[in-house]
Amino acid sequence: MDKNREFAKLAGICWHEWVDNLGHDGGIICKHCWKNPDEVSNPDFTDAREVLKVMELRRDWVGFLNFIHGGKLWNGELHASVVPLWLVKNTTGKLRDLAIEWLEKEEGK
Ligand SMILES: [Zn+2]
Repeated sequence: MDKNREFAKLAGICWHEWVDNLGHDGGIICKHCWKNPDEVSNPDFTDAREVLKVMELRRDWVGFLNFIHGGKLWNGELHASVVPLWLVKNTTGKLRDLAIEWLEKEEGK
């Protein structure tokens, strides 16, 4: 599976797949959420910022932060917005891949 799509699935957000909007305006809509491409698009999660927008809304955000710090955060609240700079600057999907790894681990609990 495409890794961007895999991340969306694990994070519980829609990975939009376009189909003909039969019987309506002749445009296309997402077959899952019925939104159209003017409203939504699939982010490029190789960009760490796009991953952060999704992950920071999660209730277990601090757990993820702790994970990307190698489990060494001693005070989640104090470090609640600390993301290593090298990960923020990375555009090859490193943070996405870490998020996939962590979400799979959390799912298995
Ligand atoms: Zn959708």
